Amino acid sequence: MTERELIRTYFGDIGSRRDDVLAGIGDDGAVLQPRAGESLVMATDTLVGGVHFPVDAPAAAVGEKALAVNLSDLAAMGAEPAWFQLALTLPEADHAWLQGFSAGLAGLARYHQVRLVGGDIARGPLNICVQVVGFVPVGGALRRRGARPGDAVVVSGSLGDAALGLALWQRRADRDDANVAYLLDRLHRPVPRVSLGQALRGRATAAVDVSDGLAGDLGHLLEASGVGATVDVDRLPLSEPGLRFGGRQQQWRTALTGGDDYELCFTLPRSRLHELDGLASRLGVALTRIGTVQPRAGLRLRHADRTPVVLEDSGYQHFSEAD
Ligand code: ADP
Ligand code: MG
Repeated sequence: MTERELIRTYFGDIGSRRDDVLAGIGDDGAVLQPRAGESLVMATDTLVGGVHFPVDAPAAAVGEKALAVNLSDLAAMGAEPAWFQLALTLPEADHAWLQGFSAGLAGLARYHQVRLVGGDIARGPLNICVQVVGFVPVGGALRRRGARPGDAVVVSGSLGDAALGLALWQRRADRDDANVAYLLDRLHRPVPRVSLGQALRGRATAAVDVSDGLAGDLGHLLEASGVGATVDVDRLPLSEPGLRFGGRQQQWRTALTGGDDYELCFTLPRSRLHELDGLASRLGVALTRIGTVQPRAGLRLRHADRTPVVLEDSGYQHFSEAD
């Protein structure tokens, strides 16, 4: 198969057809029609085999995740995703892998009605770079800056599942166990909170997506906003399978430091807290208030009984020798 045939076969028709794509794949560049009164939001994320995903991960999951992590960035900005590009470096043209990868990518692209409008393909160590573009009304983007003292700190979904899933994947835990399957799914098939992000426009004062552990990512939001916060670690949303395999004592730490959750963390003025339950049920996603923004810089962690928590940021292990 030539390079052109490869592109046509696996990437020629990915995602929804859109009127705003005047020229997609096949020219030297894509021609795209922005909307009047809206700003473009652009994000890019690279996945390196063996670093960002296990090299033996199912190809469909890799395709899905490559787009999902980018959609998650757009969600954090409150944007409506529209178009994306894919730069793919492959060690070889493995057709079974390409078939799976392209199917995973296409499924999520159609679900979010985005279109693959171009890309590049090269030979080398496995590397997947996706770039996504979306819209927000001018001035309407969510930013990391904007959190104010008194705002509630809220997080979507549950945290720490993907990090636990990675540990289970590495030790080849039994996938027939429904809890293991759930945690592996959370690792391989993160759900970008795209509609939540858009619903937070005009509501949240700041937002960030949680890709590298809540403590770090919320820390970025607080720093950008020039504020601090107290977070109650006993309120962190943990899933049942997460609790089962991680244990309560360990799992809230994983929630704070584990990666790959792709949930949204945002700040909400107190006056809007009453909207939280309605929003959660309308969008079908858990929204948990975990803390409060304060004027003093820094992230302070404590238990419900107010005992302070110190995170040792190294030496954490999912499973001890005793396992
Ligand atoms: P050029 O020779 O100008 O570098 P290419 O032959 O690399 O162009 O690409 C031809 C067309 O195929 C372009 O529209 C490009 O955007 C598209 N394309 C190349 N690789 C991919 C890919 N992995 N996914 C989607 N489109 C791709
Ligand atoms: Mg060209």
